[in-house]
Amino acid sequence: AVTIVGSVNLDLVASGASLPAPGETVTGATLARHPGGKGANQALAARRLGAAVSLVGRVGADAMADEALALLRQDGVDLSGCTADPAAPTGVALIAVAPDGENLIVVAPGANAGFAADALPAISGALIAQLELPIDTVAKAVATADGFVALNLAPAAEVPPAMLARADLVVVNEGEAAFYGAALDVVPGLVAITLGARGARLMRRGELVAEATPPKVTAIDATGAGDAFVAALTVALLEGQAEAAALTFACTVGALAATKPGAQPSLPWRAEVDTMLGK
Ligand code: ADP
Repeated sequence: AVTIVGSVNLDLVASGASLPAPGETVTGATLARHPGGKGANQALAARRLGAAVSLVGRVGADAMADEALALLRQDGVDLSGCTADPAAPTGVALIAVAPDGENLIVVAPGANAGFAADALPAISGALIAQLELPIDTVAKAVATADGFVALNLAPAAEVPPAMLARADLVVVNEGEAAFYGAALDVVPGLVAITLGARGARLMRRGELVAEATPPKVTAIDATGAGDAFVAALTVALLEGQAEAAALTFACTVGALAATKPGAQPSLPWRAEVDTMLGK
């Protein structure tokens, strides 16, 4: 079983003819609402790949929480560790998107920001965490974990060295890799660097372990591709897949997630991935 400790957001996406400059108003956009948050996305991705998954997180005591958790609930993610904060709203990401895919994003973390370390339940088995919760909370989850620890260092932020030292797997994109720099070369575990349409690289202590390229797909919306990759690589390694095979699996899952709009609705099921891989 895999526990994800992470964020839950509702993404409010306004697609318009252009992005506003500071002080400017752009009207005529259309609104879409999607469940999001890196924690929730990764939980759903792992679940759709066949893992037993629980999500530990915080939402508000509001209607947005039901909307944000709807797909997780529908697909059987255990939400007993996902509690409601009576004093804060569910996290919201306000996203403006232009026709060329360029975007502006403002996140109001709400209940995610109020999830204190002392509110964490005991976690047993494999853990996946990201950096959209308070760092102390993530650090405690990692420090007390008793199984495989996967750490997605997104969004990039300073973390205690002990957190990196405990990780069996660290996943970053190119921007995050640049932020952490040489600190990633001393991580004792595996380090995966995602490269968008170019695929991903797997390293250990600065040495290349494997490289993979995703299948050629028509990318519609890469939101959630990174989260799909994190979940997929973790699930594959936990299944005992060899490192190179696990990386190819994760790249394929990331590519499939880029072929449909929205973060969560686009996450692929195991059968689609196996078909794509010719299994
Ligand atoms: P992030 O969204 O975190 O920056 P990336 O853009 O690197 O992450 O994407 C994560 C993974 O998703 C990539 O390693 C790749 O396998 C897949 N992916 C993302 N964009 C595309 C694309 N346009 N075509 C094919 N695969 C993609």
